[in-house]
Amino acid sequence: MKIKYLLDEEEIPKKWYNVAADMPTPLKPPLNPGTLKPLTAQDMEAIFPKALIQQEMSTERWIDIPEEVREILKLWRPTPLYRAASLEKALKTPAKIYYKYEGVSPAGSHKPNTAIPQAYYNMKEGIERLATETGAGQWGSALSLATCLFGLQCTVYMVRSSFDSKPYRKSAMRVWGAECLSSPSDRTNFGRQIREKMPDTPGSLGIAISEAVEDAASHDNTNYSLGSVLNHVLLHQTIEGQELKKQFDMTEDYPDVMFGCCGGGSNFPGMVFPFIPDKLKDKKDLRMVACEPTACPTLTEGLFAYDYGDTAGMAPVIMMYTLGHDFIPPGIHAGGLRYHGDAPLLSNLVHDGLIEATALQQTEVFEAATLFARTEGIIPAPESAHAIKPAIDEALNCRKTGEEKVIFISLSGHGHFDLSSYDAYNDGKLVDYVYPAELVKQSLAKLPKP
Ligand SMILES: *Cc1c(COP(=O)(O)O)cnc(C)c1O
Repeated sequence: MKIKYLLDEEEIPKKWYNVAADMPTPLKPPLNPGTLKPLTAQDMEAIFPKALIQQEMSTERWIDIPEEVREILKLWRPTPLYRAASLEKALKTPAKIYYKYEGVSPAGSHKPNTAIPQAYYNMKEGIERLATETGAGQWGSALSLATCLFGLQCTVYMVRSSFDSKPYRKSAMRVWGAECLSSPSDRTNFGRQIREKMPDTPGSLGIAISEAVEDAASHDNTNYSLGSVLNHVLLHQTIEGQELKKQFDMTEDYPDVMFGCCGGGSNFPGMVFPFIPDKLKDKKDLRMVACEPTACPTLTEGLFAYDYGDTAGMAPVIMMYTLGHDFIPPGIHAGGLRYHGDAPLLSNLVHDGLIEATALQQTEVFEAATLFARTEGIIPAPESAHAIKPAIDEALNCRKTGEEKVIFISLSGHGHFDLSSYDAYNDGKLVDYVYPAELVKQSLAKLPKP
């Protein structure tokens, strides 16, 4: 039985798919954080290149991928689709489980899929440095890689809890020539302010974003770059799902249910958005499930509302599921899933009922990740493992019902930099955490009122 489905490098897509062209309900426009009036292209030019602003606002269905970008993507793309035959056997399930593995990129996750085009467009428009934030460090390392390939400098504001617990991500960023600072830092006004008010804060993505935006807005040669949430990021990730459709054609199966973990919402939309037209036009009975931690339950417990993208209120105000922009999640081990909001494109489709969401506890997630590693060999990123747990549950359910469902997992990255989290799990030191509903309520009381 062939269990690995590979494509030739010429089959890397030549266009990105823009789901905005096919959405039943159009997106509400992003707002200027100062005036709460719709954001203009000019508002964005202080921190983004024109090409990305155009993509951000586009409703064109297909957008050309520059040949220079495709050439670099060939370093590791197309990524493999696997049939998880050993996992199926261990579960004694009649279901078929597939996973597409993005951990084969040099940075170990799906994030270079957007870091490469973002660095490219900034380089084309004469920008010399990019400023960004990173949670667990995957985005920081992906952008460090991309900027170094295009000869740009890079400054990364890394959430303090991860900066302290994930030292080797910093080391990778340094190798690729970037500067990595613990956030809140003393480099920005906002960072200094937070350090004074909350000296013991573990930091948050919202704070780190504010620092990177401030850095970019106050330096002419510097732009800002975001690794998730924004429309152009999700657009760039659709190479995943387009490859996946071709790979499913090779298997002669078609998914019944697709699982992907959701932090800001980019790896999962990248896999599933190219399947949305099937669902809309051909009325395919395909379930798509976004998987998040109970410690940061944005889609399952948050509100669909306008909110700031960052803590300081400097980033655009966007319509999304949110837990409130001053929400500071606990330092759980899936650092990449700790954002207070979710991508507007994904939020909109969840609100319209086309995509579902579920929330998982971290110990059950690590248990599932361990079974996956012991059967399929790959040690998953703790983030990715949030998609493995419900996929295993679905497969076990098929054992009861006898259904031969086709189950898909978006395996967004490897866990080689997260082994201290696996140690904590194996030492019995991981505790489950459900974010208290009362705190969500307090945070949601502070939403902007356009
Ligand atoms: C960053 C990251 C995530 C979460 O981000 P999304 O934008 O929701 O995809 C998930 N998995 C891995 C491996 C990551 O690096």
